[in-house]
Amino acid sequence: MSWQDLIRDVQDYPQPGVLFKDITPVLADPGAFAEVVEELGALFDEADKVVGIEARGFILAAPVAYNIGAGFVPVRKKGKLPAETLEESYDLEYGSATIEVHSDAFRPGDRVVIVDDVLATGGTAAAAVELVKRAGAEVTGVAVLMELSFLKGRERLPGVDLRSLVTV
Ligand code: 5GP
Repeated sequence: MSWQDLIRDVQDYPQPGVLFKDITPVLADPGAFAEVVEELGALFDEADKVVGIEARGFILAAPVAYNIGAGFVPVRKKGKLPAETLEESYDLEYGSATIEVHSDAFRPGDRVVIVDDVLATGGTAAAAVELVKRAGAEVTGVAVLMELSFLKGRERLPGVDLRSLVTV
């Protein structure tokens, strides 16, 4: 059995009509977790910093950063980072969301890989790309465990090297 088989479909989460891809069984399996971290790290192994997007992105991005010898930078929901931040808002199906990064998280020209668990509509990843660029760094690529291609998130990331371990 491969780690892909451990991804679980949860119907009607977080709201009716949505089929949620639950990756927690992948994380709970020692072999599967190790493979996913290895494979994500192999997508882009030349980076100075790996950005993790709150919250599931943290779980994957931190061990990926450690594995490839890069630093880890958190992108968090508004109000969670203590020092001066840059913020970026994006539209959700209902309402909007704002994410932040510390203004001094990168050195000029740092090569940055952004890691998250799932790319859905692409709004979160696109906002993270903007934040990294505005903070003076260079986005080498975006690496996700799973891309939900029917939501066309890739189209919101023109010119960005987006790579996924599984596409559905
Ligand atoms: P987007 O902004 O691309 O629409 O949504 C991506 C963000 O929402 C990611 O941070 C991801 O963690 C979360 N997300 C959206 N849909 C799913 C899903 O089906 N499964 C998981 N695990 N996360 C999801």
